[in-house]
Amino acid sequence: MNLLIQKFGGTSVGSPQRIKALVNLTVNSTPKLVVLSAMSGTTNALVEICETLYTKEHIKAGTLIKQLEDKYHTVITELFSTPAALDKGKQLLHQHFDYIRGFTLDMFTANEEKAILAQGELLSTALYHFYLEEQGIASVLLPALQFMRLDANDEPDMAYIEEQLKQLLTNYPAHTFFITQGYICRNAFGEIDNLKRGGSDYTASIIGAALRSPEIQIWTDIDGMHNNDPRIVNKTHPIQQLSFDEAAELAYFGAKILHPTCILPAQKRNIPVRLKNTMQPDAEGTLIDNQLSGEGIKAIAAKDGIVAINIKSERMLLAYGFLRAVFEIFERHKTPIDMITTSEVAVSLTIDSSAHLNDILAELKEIATVQVETDQTIISIVGQLPKDKPGYGYKVLDALQHIPLRMVSYGGSSSNISVLVNSVHKKEALMALNKGLFGY
Ligand code: ASP
Ligand code: MG
Repeated sequence: MNLLIQKFGGTSVGSPQRIKALVNLTVNSTPKLVVLSAMSGTTNALVEICETLYTKEHIKAGTLIKQLEDKYHTVITELFSTPAALDKGKQLLHQHFDYIRGFTLDMFTANEEKAILAQGELLSTALYHFYLEEQGIASVLLPALQFMRLDANDEPDMAYIEEQLKQLLTNYPAHTFFITQGYICRNAFGEIDNLKRGGSDYTASIIGAALRSPEIQIWTDIDGMHNNDPRIVNKTHPIQQLSFDEAAELAYFGAKILHPTCILPAQKRNIPVRLKNTMQPDAEGTLIDNQLSGEGIKAIAAKDGIVAINIKSERMLLAYGFLRAVFEIFERHKTPIDMITTSEVAVSLTIDSSAHLNDILAELKEIATVQVETDQTIISIVGQLPKDKPGYGYKVLDALQHIPLRMVSYGGSSSNISVLVNSVHKKEALMALNKGLFGY
């Protein structure tokens, strides 16, 4: 069966009204599997509950749990209109909130935390399923914990997922409407785990790949990926089409609409990803597929919290093996490098996680002179920039002529130019690029 994948994020299920409105978007004759996030605010609330449980503030935890439970009570009273459905809703809340409360009594570790974090998606999917049932619409709730699994490297275990999911679906030959939880999964030990914050997009993409779906739709509250960050610059426009590489670049470098991990599973099996807006379902949105369309610069994204490290050594001059020694240090500390620029005697590179920074610096200092700058921003300019066409570098640098550039990276791929600026210049830089590249 060819199941369309439709993923709805937290705001798309964020209130009883929004949950009801999902019917218009999901109930039709197209066979589909709907992936839901937790209602917006829920995962954050669960994180906060876990924090108080770690610090053994049990009274505070109790209060927070009660607050969340009350919120859900309001949701079910507004969502359901029949006593039977309301009753089911109440039982559901009892079951999940008693489970959460159970953890206030005992020892609290990362495993318990993950079990608590899973409750948001379990609740949202069950609520939608019950709502459909109340409306007389048949749907099947597939438990993600029965098929989503990570392997020993914390990567999705694609073979297992594919096999389990297909097996599970064979139990429902007469059905064409399935619902499952985003974000949650099991790890290689079978314990409850998750795909990291914002991971529901990833779930949708993994499932779409596993089932070789005709399309993966990611529904959010914006009408597609935009050419620039609408929170920072005044005028932006949605982009009609992006290649997988362009979209991955934008998602990784800060476009919030799509989780960066989400591209790869879809790209591997060449499954189109469509970004759609629940508030404006008729808007075209953005299609991400394997087509390289429209030469030129398409979009800009920015990523904050970047650390730049400058590594200088006379040993680099006319020598080989120096970069390998540098890279091995980052590898040993499991820290990915984002940008690199080199001169004959020095190399600058960036990382986006300071988790192992001190250990990395200690080792780098054994082989070089090292300087570190924090609070940097990578601005990534993405599009089709053929190597034999002049002008793209010029346009970017011209637009940024008043802004100090810490690093510039061009030519790594034909879909990207990246610059590194101090974060204090980010807004100015995004506005200047919006003007210089898009005329806004
Ligand atoms: N509910 C999870 C989160 O808030 C997963 C998601 O929404 O994608 O991070
Ligand atoms: Mg999300």
